Amino acid sequence: MFRFLLTRKKTDCYPEFVSMYDLIVIGAGIGGYPAAIRGAQLGAKVLIVEKAEVGGTCLNRGCIPTKALKATSEMLDGLHRLGEFGLSGRVEVSVDMNKIVQRKNRIVDELVKGVHFLLRSQGVTLKSGAVTFLSKNKVRITSRGGASETAESKGFIIATGSSPAGLPGVEPDGSRILTSDQILDIDTLPKRLIIIGSGVIGTEMAFIFRSLGVDVTLLEMMPRPLPSEEEEISRLISRSFKKVGIKLKTQVRVARIDIRDDVSVYLDNNEVVNADRVLVAVGRKINTGELGLGALGIKLGKQHEIMVDPFFNTGIDNIYACGDVIGGMMLAHVAYKEGITAAANLLGSEKRSINYRAIPYAIYSSPEAASVGLTEGKARDMGFEVRTGVFPYRALGKARAYSETDGVVKVVVDGDTQKVLGMHVVGPHATDAIAQGAMAIQNDLTVRSLSDTVAAHPTYAEAVMEAAEDVFSRAIHQPRIMTKEQSGGN
Ligand code: FAD
Ligand code: NAD
Repeated sequence: MFRFLLTRKKTDCYPEFVSMYDLIVIGAGIGGYPAAIRGAQLGAKVLIVEKAEVGGTCLNRGCIPTKALKATSEMLDGLHRLGEFGLSGRVEVSVDMNKIVQRKNRIVDELVKGVHFLLRSQGVTLKSGAVTFLSKNKVRITSRGGASETAESKGFIIATGSSPAGLPGVEPDGSRILTSDQILDIDTLPKRLIIIGSGVIGTEMAFIFRSLGVDVTLLEMMPRPLPSEEEEISRLISRSFKKVGIKLKTQVRVARIDIRDDVSVYLDNNEVVNADRVLVAVGRKINTGELGLGALGIKLGKQHEIMVDPFFNTGIDNIYACGDVIGGMMLAHVAYKEGITAAANLLGSEKRSINYRAIPYAIYSSPEAASVGLTEGKARDMGFEVRTGVFPYRALGKARAYSETDGVVKVVVDGDTQKVLGMHVVGPHATDAIAQGAMAIQNDLTVRSLSDTVAAHPTYAEAVMEAAEDVFSRAIHQPRIMTKEQSGGN
């Protein structure tokens, strides 16, 4: 087992000439920077190297900028419903994409500056450049200008993430054909947008741009949108697409694209769809190409992801990896947890893994969808004696008050032990409500922990408490099915 004595005590200062680090983290995304900070907290002398922007995809081109745009689109959705809330009069709204992007950039800048500050405050050294391994203890760092230097370390964590995947014959030009990175910085809204791929990115972008007034067409090669999600979630999202006017074509592949006045997308069923711009959202490719891992004997999987053991070790005793670069659940909170766990495993005496069954998944559609743990079907397939409880948002006081009644919470429980196996929420604030399910599964709690914990009133959390009660048919705000006589003959 790899163990080393840490060079640094928390309060030590280092003279510049000491170039040997305890830990070099490669990539300063949401996997890398927490790993570097945890390393420093554990007393290691840490260098983090980033070839582009600190904060990586999540802060600069992913979670945060998309949610900043989503916030604008939701504000606009709200304005269309003023009458429902007893407000009348004329509100003149024009969509200024430049200002929307400026707001997004301000939010990103503040968060990126925050990460720079955190790294500095923990004594982590930051260098700019692309890293390539020269040996298991030595890397070359090449700056954008081409200058290079070497650095040595006892241990490494690779956190180089992923980038937008392409489609053969469809070359993003940043103007008419865009990646998910590029669409976040457009200065004018297209009238018509085609999105190739209705996975998570395609779906989230479709709702954002539709709310901003764009005519959106989604093209998906599989039979349903969000094909890697539960069928029920796909069905509910398809219904929402229809409701807001997002056009969806499934089981179609792009044959070729012509760019003239319009962008014409020719499909394999001989249909042609025209738009002003096209977004390609067909998945991610793993960033392992320039690391020089082959010479070290680090194994890569089919998608070029780094193969690691449950403790995030690559098979080379002093080299660990975390985040999108190891494939699996390519999510920010997963990268974060893997990063701090990998740092502790590399530097500490105890090895830990992660309970992926307790990782929540959130889709920022309209309404939101979120899940954690097993679905009812999966739990049955695994042989559990399943019991479920369901509670609709429309029975919640808060949902009524805010006119947000389109949603449902479902809990999946092992009938033998009463342990919570899964939770699934579709509806406003689903991405927050799911935290209760993650807490229950992570801590192996029974469904009674959900029904016995009193939720404040009025909140959406009450739906979780009531869904848990519904497992025993005891939800207070769920009517019993009445006989004709009981219902007064109606
Ligand atoms: P990254 O964030 O990709 O960071 C890797 C860093 O390594 C990059 O900064 C890169 O420049 C650097 N790097 C690469 N190669 C080298 C090298 N050789 N030398 C030095 N540096 C290098 N996830 C969620 O959980 N919730 C969301 O709402 C969400 N929304 C998303 C929306 C979009 C549009 C996208 C694209 C992704 C979204 N994700 C979301 C996914 C999430 O962003 C990623 O899972 C997460 O950023 C992965 O973090 P990471 O640190 O592993 O990799
Ligand atoms: P994805 O794998 O979720 O979806 C890609 C979609 O494109 C799939 O539905 C696929 O069938 C379709 N597709 C592939 N090739 C196609 C073709 N030739 N023609 C038509 N359709 C095609 O990938 P993504 O949407 O790019 O997202 C990448 C990752 O980013 C996700 O896996 C997710 O982990 C992460 N992400 C997470 C969130 C979130 O947590 N809210 C948000 C955005 C992204």
